[in-house]
Amino acid sequence: MLSTLSLTPSFGFGDRLGLATPGHIAAAKGANFAPIFAQQSVRENARTGRTPQQVLDDAQRAVEAAHWDAPWGADADHLKSPDDLPPFVAAGYTFYTVDPGEYVDNAADADPLPVLQQKAIELNWDELSALYLNGKCEAVFGTFDPETLLRAAVKYEKAVRHTVGMYRRLALMKDEFDFEISVDETDSPTTPLEHFFIASELTRLGVRFTSLAPRFIGRFEKGVDYLGNLAALDAEMAKHAAVAAHFGTYKLSLHSGSDKFSIYPLIARHWGERVHVKTAGTSYLEALRVLARLEPGLFNEIYAFSRQHYEADRRTYQVSAQLEKLPERGDLPALLDDFHAREVLHVTFGSVLAQFGAQLKAALERHLDAYHEGLRVHFQKHLQFLV
Ligand SMILES: [Zn+2]
Repeated sequence: MLSTLSLTPSFGFGDRLGLATPGHIAAAKGANFAPIFAQQSVRENARTGRTPQQVLDDAQRAVEAAHWDAPWGADADHLKSPDDLPPFVAAGYTFYTVDPGEYVDNAADADPLPVLQQKAIELNWDELSALYLNGKCEAVFGTFDPETLLRAAVKYEKAVRHTVGMYRRLALMKDEFDFEISVDETDSPTTPLEHFFIASELTRLGVRFTSLAPRFIGRFEKGVDYLGNLAALDAEMAKHAAVAAHFGTYKLSLHSGSDKFSIYPLIARHWGERVHVKTAGTSYLEALRVLARLEPGLFNEIYAFSRQHYEADRRTYQVSAQLEKLPERGDLPALLDDFHAREVLHVTFGSVLAQFGAQLKAALERHLDAYHEGLRVHFQKHLQFLV
């Protein structure tokens, strides 16, 4: 049953090809996570040429065929402007992720004080300082002083205001929905104290949100494990969990969750049940793994094409793969485990689908059982690490 999931632990399975949901369902059976079977960002819709309605219909068909009768959600992911909302509302999405990243001022971390003060003229500084410099914010995750508050406010207050606007617009169109704010794709990490500021401001301004995705320290690149200092992240995850526990009204959300196996135990330990994880590209990579094994001719064409398009397509993603480090052809399907090959294949999906979409889907449809079984095994590994 398509419904809101509220504070239930949840897991998002993005499916860019519209053929993956049976594998996702097989993995979700018996797991401790409520599934999001339809999850697509505005950017993904543009690159795959699919509409919000098509994405939801593909998931719905698979849900009905599998007789999945537990709650599941549909995530309208990375919505940037109010104009993005209507097609998702019309299709019946239950979970709305607002990404106000364009309104986050990443320079606020390092700006000299006079610059910050100049920027803060547009903000309601008197009100903010009365709210946050009153000594009541003492907590394990830190305390504001005038400078940290100024930096947090300059960095995030405009993003908060934009999110409030999006929330109010959505509330006019829809009665019940899960609502997430995500700043995960911004350049500067969100400190636990800044996380507190965002959550506090949203709450104060009447936004009832069910999850929040900070930008964590280190690198969360697409389709590969975490890159960064695990001990530092461990301490940081504990503080973010303390902030979320302070409010007790929302889950922490991890984006780019694909294959982040080294950090799942930290999330399980610190976040407990208040968790939402999103994956998307890994299901596309599993489709390519099937092709590498069973349709190597087509796979090699796609691989060569992806290499040509990587430098252009990588621009909107956080990835560090280098073309010169790619295996020339590599062993198939082991190539799909190579860091550089995974990222190159991951971020070029839009170009590949524009060029090879029909061929790729036709080939995959010849091997659907293998694809779904591969997804089941791959996602059960994700889900096992999270509990
Ligand atoms: Zn994201």
